[in-house]
Amino acid sequence: MANDSYKDAIAGLSKLLSERADLGSVAASKIKRITAELEAAGYEEFDPIERVKTGFVHFKTEKYDKDPKLYGALAKGQSPKFLVFACSDSRVCPSHILNFQPGEAFMVRNIANMVPPYDQIKHSGAGAAIEYAVVHLKVKNIVVIGHSCCGGIKGLMSFPDDGSSSSTDFIENWVKICSAAKSKVATKFDGLSLEEQCHNCEKEAVNVSLQNLLTYPLRERGRGQWCCIAEGRSLRFCQRNFPAVGSRFRYFPVHCYLSF
Ligand SMILES: [Zn+2]
Repeated sequence: MANDSYKDAIAGLSKLLSERADLGSVAASKIKRITAELEAAGYEEFDPIERVKTGFVHFKTEKYDKDPKLYGALAKGQSPKFLVFACSDSRVCPSHILNFQPGEAFMVRNIANMVPPYDQIKHSGAGAAIEYAVVHLKVKNIVVIGHSCCGGIKGLMSFPDDGSSSSTDFIENWVKICSAAKSKVATKFDGLSLEEQCHNCEKEAVNVSLQNLLTYPLRERGRGQWCCIAEGRSLRFCQRNFPAVGSRFRYFPVHCYLSF
């Protein structure tokens, strides 16, 4: 849309100048000034506060003010249809990729989109989110979104199994949640490059997370979904089954591939 506006503006200027040749020198002067301003702006330092301000103004004017019915309803409560586990990776925002609207998905984002097994001490954060979503919000659909180029999975595949590296304070310990996926991939795909093993582990780790969901003592199990974002040039979908996971889950057979 921005490009269209830009093209419209250029077209309008061209039309004006073709009709008013006398404005040529004035237009040239103004264009030169605008060009200089744009070049200078390109070198300005990133201002995080200004970025947040403009982001919120965009939300307020383009979304909030244009849909008072939706936000009025959300002010009274939420009843999301999905509980989503997604990676903290900045490229894989579920709302962006799956077009979730406000109020539609209750989200947990962490390193490598992992669901830890039931543990009231070690993983109370994840447990609280699951409990709140399923017990209190009555969410029926649980979605775990894996993706390509996942740094957390690369860490899992790279850290020594004996814990001898101790190069991180938290990450190594966290990604061990999916050690079973690492073991399976290392055995099944022995001989493949680290990159290829990681790619397989990104998928297998989702299976482990779905298995871990079964350890929670919840009546509502909902359904699991895996949406894998991998390299490619366009957004496309294909089917896949998950034979390794428990029968209490039903699955959307969907992968999502997105280019970066
Ligand atoms: Zn990731």
